[in-house]
Amino acid sequence: MRVDNYAFDASGKVVVVTGGNRGIGAGIVDAFVAKHRARRVYVVSRSTEVGDISTRYGAAPGSVIGIACDLSEQRGVDVVKSAIDARGDGVHVLVCNSGASWGAELETHDEAAWMKTHKLNVVGTFLLVRALLPMLERASSRTDPARVIVIGSIAGVAPQRYPTFSYDASKAALHHLARKLADELAARRKLAITVNVVAPGYVPTKMSKGLEKWDGESGDDIVARGVPLARAGSPDDVAGAVAFLASSASSWITGVVLPVDGGFLAKL
Ligand code: NDP
Repeated sequence: MRVDNYAFDASGKVVVVTGGNRGIGAGIVDAFVAKHRARRVYVVSRSTEVGDISTRYGAAPGSVIGIACDLSEQRGVDVVKSAIDARGDGVHVLVCNSGASWGAELETHDEAAWMKTHKLNVVGTFLLVRALLPMLERASSRTDPARVIVIGSIAGVAPQRYPTFSYDASKAALHHLARKLADELAARRKLAITVNVVAPGYVPTKMSKGLEKWDGESGDDIVARGVPLARAGSPDDVAGAVAFLASSASSWITGVVLPVDGGFLAKL
């Protein structure tokens, strides 16, 4: 379902969206390019087309730049930093959305699954924020702070019924990392950078399709069982919350976890 994105003028702003080539991330990229008119959006993932991909978005040349890299490794993070540095950009909004889930039933949920999940969802996010800190700082002011927006999950707030042990734990760690960074970048370092989490509920994407394999539950079943607002979420729903947290309306909000879940957590 398409919903109207939060009205917000991002013209003049540089935005980085990881995992921006499909699913929720693609919805966030579309919103920043078409609705909020960001000056430049960097789309980062392993399979993103590299270079100026503005024409794919019907945007002016130089306004959408693809960067292909693996964000679970420092090497990949360095590629992002270099590509942004090469254009001399500051970063006004960093959306850490890339994420994945590996794992299996309790008895077979092995160390490799834990390491892969945490390397991408937690460690990769930390490394990226750390690498882009100078650029966030450059784009920041007391009245209009730079924003780090982390895409967490309701699974990081309350355990879900699937045996996604490493994923749920990684998202809880990610939420806590975001709060820690919020405190560090505001209170301790006195930098004008906010850090907040958007925690989506069920949004049909390639990743959430994988949930069906655990108990055969369809998307409609998931909604009927647990979503008071009686529909699945869409990438636009998440993009609306991201836009709010990137806008001047939220410049005094930091360290929060905002569920975007159709009321799922309210029922618990
Ligand atoms: P998708 O699987 O559709 O998208 C995941 C994105 O992450 C893709 O763009 C993928 O691109 C990128 N990605 C995966 N691995 C890496 C890597 N190693 N390096 C760089 N990029 C990578 O899933 P969603 O859109 O559903 O998920 C987006 C975020 O939303 C995730 O953080 C997820 O945990 C979260 N979320 C999703 C929910 C849902 O119901 N869909 C619910 C709650 C949270 P590529 O493969 O090309 O690298």
